[in-house]
Amino acid sequence: MNQLEKLKKAVNEFLPTSIENLQGYLSIPTVSAQNKSISETVEYVVAMIKDLKGEVKVLDDLGGNPVVYAFFAAGDQGDASKTLLFYNHYDVQPPEPLNEWDSNPFEPTIKDGKLFARGVADNKGDLVARLSAIKALQKVEGGVPCNIKFLIEGEEEIGSPNLEPYLKKYRELFQADACIWEFGGKDDKDRISMVAGIKGMAYMELTCIGAEIDMHSSVGAYVDNAAWRLVLALGTMKNQQNEILVDGFFDGIKEPTESEKQVVANLPFDEKAIARLYGLKRALITSRKGVDPREAMVFHPTMTICGLESGYTGEGAKTVLPKKAMAKIDCRLVPGQDPNYIFECIKKHLLVHGFDDIEVKLINGQKAYRSSFHHPFIDHVIQAAKEVYKNDVILAPNSAGTGPMYIFGEQLCLPIVSTGVGWAGSKAHAPNESIRLQDFEEGIVYIAYMLTGFSDALTEKKDTVVIKK
Ligand SMILES: [Zn+2]
Repeated sequence: MNQLEKLKKAVNEFLPTSIENLQGYLSIPTVSAQNKSISETVEYVVAMIKDLKGEVKVLDDLGGNPVVYAFFAAGDQGDASKTLLFYNHYDVQPPEPLNEWDSNPFEPTIKDGKLFARGVADNKGDLVARLSAIKALQKVEGGVPCNIKFLIEGEEEIGSPNLEPYLKKYRELFQADACIWEFGGKDDKDRISMVAGIKGMAYMELTCIGAEIDMHSSVGAYVDNAAWRLVLALGTMKNQQNEILVDGFFDGIKEPTESEKQVVANLPFDEKAIARLYGLKRALITSRKGVDPREAMVFHPTMTICGLESGYTGEGAKTVLPKKAMAKIDCRLVPGQDPNYIFECIKKHLLVHGFDDIEVKLINGQKAYRSSFHHPFIDHVIQAAKEVYKNDVILAPNSAGTGPMYIFGEQLCLPIVSTGVGWAGSKAHAPNESIRLQDFEEGIVYIAYMLTGFSDALTEKKDTVVIKK
């Protein structure tokens, strides 16, 4: 039996225990936006690590939800000169709207080979898969083949506001040669898809206050309407072609390289499948404009209204002139853009357009990050995935989503690839979030197998490694 077969066998034998561990973890409602169950979750994570004889530290001296550090030293047969870092988060998104769930979001439910629960795909399933991979290596190899570290934070779903000081202070502790990021999975054709970077974020709240109390709508003859003012202000920020009209918004954007462009042009993209998945009512913006959606997804920044609130929205009619209107918007940024600068540009845009009464608050900001495509680690994760998944592997320069990857790249100077146990229908952040148990099992085997060749892959090509800060 070769090494891969041995790992598969070991994982298959203890899989029920791993699923049980995951179910226990998922039943804790760790909603960071509502500050729920944080210490209980940290205890659970610490127990899982200790169970595998890992060293663990709970860092909480710099405020915010604790950051968990875990360390597994290379076994006797392993290479202690190489270290792989895993990044995960133990917090989850709020489960609302609850009436759209087919089962209780915090009562993990298995149905048709899938495990349903809030956070199962993003990101609790991945942490348990990675810890299970360590267990498999301990069983098959008698230990792990290199040093392994974990950084597990509890504020990813609220924009990791306190992570940077921890990474700065504990840079030595988290130092590694490469990093596996939190998430990933299979696409609609079951190809494993990975990313080597991430988009950034500028999340803002816009508020227009027109009066101290709601008014009878008849005063609309002579009183400004906060809801209209906010809608008009938002209307100046984008045109009907979905183009962002804020001056300075595109300043500093780093042009993608030729190899990045080529990879993106070959990414799979099934418009019909996407329309079906979301039940879209209109054609994609990109197809109406004749833009390649792959390029838009990876290389273009976005501006999205995430929520609007004002006046009466209940049943029937209520003729009211609201005193206040509020909108939340997010801008997904690409490398070269700075969230604080974007925030200043939007403030200036509103002033210039006569909306000096609209207050803008930056809720959170993160820069984008892209790893160099020419690192042996990148080749290694792809090669190992081909061997385990026996299917095409798709690696994009960056994801369309966001996370605190930039500060890892900046503080630790390492290549980062994201891969995980999700699938095309995982519905992260939405009702009925799920993973397929088959993917969970394969994902454990993949991480274990990838770790076995990690040190060699980095050593062989050491002379050619160039990491640009
Ligand atoms: Zn996540």
